[in-house]
Amino acid sequence: MTDKQPTAYEVPFVELLESVPNNSRLWVDFLEGMGSRHFPVGHYCHKAAAELRRLHQSEREAWRYAAELEQDRKRLHEVNAKLVEALRLMNIECQHLHHAKKDQHGYDVACPVVERIKASIAKATGEQQ
Ligand SMILES: [Zn+2]
Repeated sequence: MTDKQPTAYEVPFVELLESVPNNSRLWVDFLEGMGSRHFPVGHYCHKAAAELRRLHQSEREAWRYAAELEQDRKRLHEVNAKLVEALRLMNIECQHLHHAKKDQHGYDVACPVVERIKASIAKATGEQQ
């Protein structure tokens, strides 16, 4: 078998495997009366075909799942952009924020809470500060 894709007139390999009668057997006689052995090649062909179909189905499901993830990623990217824009439009001021004890500051000092919020917005948009 080669890696090339089957053309329209070729029977897919999996169908060729399935076309082998399930009860086909190969008998091998060993030299000088050392006996013989049979191989259930029809059974093997059908097992191989079933495995190929299962793998093909798994691949299709994986591609469908990847497409869904890509749609989710795009949707979340758009939502994120809108949320960042909404944050930018807000007037974030010190007097409207909760200040933990560690964040308390004087009037003449830049508000550490506002600075952290602005840094987070800039980080979300990939801007440098
Ligand atoms: Zn403050």
